[in-house]
Amino acid sequence: MAQTLNCDLAILGGGLSGSLIALAFARLRPEISLLLVEQGPVLGGNHLWSFFDSDITPASRWLIDPLITHRWPQGHEVRFPTYRRTLATAYNSIASAQLDTHARQALGNRVILDAEAVQVMPDRVTLADGREIAARAVIDARGGGDLSALDCGWQKFVGQALRLTSPHGLDRPVIMDATVDQIDGYRFVYLLPFDDHTIFVEDTYYSNDPALDVPALTDRIAAYASARGWNVQQITHQESGVLPVVHGGDFDRFWPKTDSVARAGVRAALFQPMTGYSLPDAVEAALWLADQPLDNLGHATRARAAAHWRSGSYYRLLGKMLFRAARPDQRWRIFDRFYRLSPNLIARFYSGRSTWADRIRILCGRPPVPIRSAMRALLSPSV
Ligand SMILES: Cc1cc2nc3c(=O)[nH]c(=O)nc-3n(C[C@H](O)[C@H](O)[C@H](O)COP(=O)(O)OP(=O)(O)OC[C@H]3O[C@@H](n4cnc5c(N)ncnc54)[C@H](O)[C@@H]3O)c2cc1C
Repeated sequence: MAQTLNCDLAILGGGLSGSLIALAFARLRPEISLLLVEQGPVLGGNHLWSFFDSDITPASRWLIDPLITHRWPQGHEVRFPTYRRTLATAYNSIASAQLDTHARQALGNRVILDAEAVQVMPDRVTLADGREIAARAVIDARGGGDLSALDCGWQKFVGQALRLTSPHGLDRPVIMDATVDQIDGYRFVYLLPFDDHTIFVEDTYYSNDPALDVPALTDRIAAYASARGWNVQQITHQESGVLPVVHGGDFDRFWPKTDSVARAGVRAALFQPMTGYSLPDAVEAALWLADQPLDNLGHATRARAAAHWRSGSYYRLLGKMLFRAARPDQRWRIFDRFYRLSPNLIARFYSGRSTWADRIRILCGRPPVPIRSAMRALLSPSV
């Protein structure tokens, strides 16, 4: 007979959001028995997640600090064809291997790996190997899922950590080097100096097309490194991603009211619509969840996600301008203009906390896209 596992809380998906929820419960509600169910052989997959200090409140840092693998207190830089700018906000990166190590140490036998959830109900889960989990509450944190109800552009990238034969000379991250040839939309290179001989180089595109030509991008990374005079001894890590930049859509279709399974992470559309980044929302949601009663979690998480969706309408409107109004080879001008604004406004933008004054400031002045295309994009339905 198939085995039944009993717990108070079953968290499906041991990625960023599911792991953070499990860690938050383990610390704040140790009396709750939980299981974290991941289909892969490790927690977190193969990712590097980065964030600014301004993305996470000091009170929430305890959850994320043990995961940080690189930190640059000296701030970060952006580069555009006619200027460079250094911003003082510190930057941090988390390697998924560290999430795996830390979460497995903290959670022990509460982690179930190589276990695919095939049937999910608000209080019951069936795994592919036939095991059942009976729980007071289930949280579905299985990542993106079906995005067909959302209108998306794409932020796509390939990143490689390069071990060089001599020092690269950078002492802080360059989060956008947009001095490169503009191909397939807005293109920039993202640089993280891990140590004086190792640099993470990511070739990134804001594109209308989600197709990712990995060999072409790795060739461009090699060309970029060579143009900088960097001699590559070894590629120590590679990752790729295609993140939705959501500029419209129907939340009720994405998460129907009749679906009463609680959700978290990208599964609940908890990300900054313009960047596709979910880490700040994942931290906040984990701490919020650990403060909720387990009954009726489906309703509570949907109400919170719907409010988050509504609060993202301004960013979706900007996304619409970017993908529908700006000519792909001119998209860089929007970022070029944005990065001339105040550092605090930029920090609030990335954390999804833009004030009304910020919103007006971002849009006012001579628009970096043709005004008629901007109006057409703004007036078309589905923000
Ligand atoms: C390469 C890459 C880099 C990124 N970098 C950043 C960044 O720097 N900063 C940032 O904020 N965001 C970043 N993002 C975007 C976003 O934050 C991540 O995608 C983040 O991992 C999403 O978290 P999540 O928990 O919702 O989903 P995921 O982390 O994708 O986790 C979902 C988990 O569910 C598991 N799963 C799926 N189906 C099942 C099933 N049936 N049964 C059991 N388990 C299942 C998956 O294996 C996976 O481990 C990045 C994305 C990618 C792809």
